[in-house]
Amino acid sequence: MEAFAIARVQLSFASITATPTGPERFATAFYTTLWAEAAGTRDLFPAGMEGMRHRFTTAVGWVINRLTDVDAVEAFLGQLARDHRKYGVRPDHFRAAGHALLVAVRECTPLILWTAALERTWSRVIGRLVEAMAVACEEDDLPASWGATVVGHERVLPDLAIIRLETDSPIPFHAGQYMSVQIPQRPNMWRYLSAAIPPNPHGQIEFHVRRVSTGWVSPALVGEVSVGDRWTIGPPLGGLAVDLESGQDALMIASGTGLAPMRAQIMEMAMRGNNPRVHLFYGGQYPCDLYDLETLWHIAMTNPWLTIVPVIEQPENPWWHPFPPKEAPPGLNRPMYGKLGKVAAQFGTWADRQIQIAGSPSMIRTTLYALSAAGTPRQNIRFDPL
Ligand SMILES: Cc1cc2nc3c(=O)[nH]c(=O)nc-3n(C[C@H](O)[C@H](O)[C@H](O)COP(=O)(O)OP(=O)(O)OC[C@H]3O[C@@H](n4cnc5c(N)ncnc54)[C@H](O)[C@@H]3O)c2cc1C
Repeated sequence: MEAFAIARVQLSFASITATPTGPERFATAFYTTLWAEAAGTRDLFPAGMEGMRHRFTTAVGWVINRLTDVDAVEAFLGQLARDHRKYGVRPDHFRAAGHALLVAVRECTPLILWTAALERTWSRVIGRLVEAMAVACEEDDLPASWGATVVGHERVLPDLAIIRLETDSPIPFHAGQYMSVQIPQRPNMWRYLSAAIPPNPHGQIEFHVRRVSTGWVSPALVGEVSVGDRWTIGPPLGGLAVDLESGQDALMIASGTGLAPMRAQIMEMAMRGNNPRVHLFYGGQYPCDLYDLETLWHIAMTNPWLTIVPVIEQPENPWWHPFPPKEAPPGLNRPMYGKLGKVAAQFGTWADRQIQIAGSPSMIRTTLYALSAAGTPRQNIRFDPL
């Protein structure tokens, strides 16, 4: 599709999301139309839709902003379509969703921008997107979801748990990917979690979860999960990976449980002989937030391609964690102080690196900004959809 048409679509979507109420209005218009026009689709969604609406608008924005990157968009939509099979979504549902999307865009774009030509362009764009999803859904021959049993739940901080499970059969994911999970304590409330270890033939999987105090599901994941609980896990998603063919060294920047996808990749690389150099900036507010630093130190001690740089904002632990910070073993980096993105950007452009960022949405945004301001090209940087 020609660049001018793509720019028009991107501009009209930006006009929808520019106002504080725009994203919510857009998602509401979409779901209202879908449920009214495609019988039975309301039952596919949870009763409480707050999070879903936000995620929907974010995902549409992610795709619209990358329309020129056809491969990335197709990969993302294919994964999203396969992921939707766990709800019972069928290929014809995507076509109905395409119509609802056009209605929502038309309703929410300011009248002054909406023309017959823009409607035709949107219609073409949406047609391609939903067809890609319908085909991916139709052609997928993997299970729609996997059952798994909790075999370990370790509370490593008051608000952070490491949860280990065994899946009934191995999930074919690659290190760096995430998946949606549904737990018995919160039925029908799927949440994404990144695998913190690489796949293995025994179906063992590990997730690191931080409690969001205002959240529905993460407090239950941290505080209520027990050994023996049965979870449902959706298909693997996401494309974080070190491209070994590129010959480029890697830069990873992770805060909090954003460590999980980097950790899985590093563990997988440690099983191979030949690796590019990897710099991992691992950050948190307090020293105790770097809850898995010792594992990383152990790997770094025997893998010279790996450099770990701990980054913290405060030198001491808070009063509720009354233990002194651990000293780095001889030869490894001592902590640097400051905001994670700013500290990583102090080193210059990182223009020759393949870069991955994982953490909270606000950390990803500020790190992107700091790296771009220091001259790192945006196209070198990857992160999962926020
Ligand atoms: C690709 C991807 C991978 C993820 N991997 C992990 C992981 O490995 N470990 C992990 O713990 N979480 C991970 N998350 C976040 C996780 O999916 C949930 O969003 C998070 O646990 C909050 O869920 P909740 O039900 O408790 O909150 P919700 O009920 O969904 O949200 C309640 C409120 O909290 C806000 N909120 C949600 N998340 C955050 C946040 N991180 N920081 C601040 N405010 C927030 C929401 O905007 C909302 O206002 C990942 C998310 C994505 C998109």
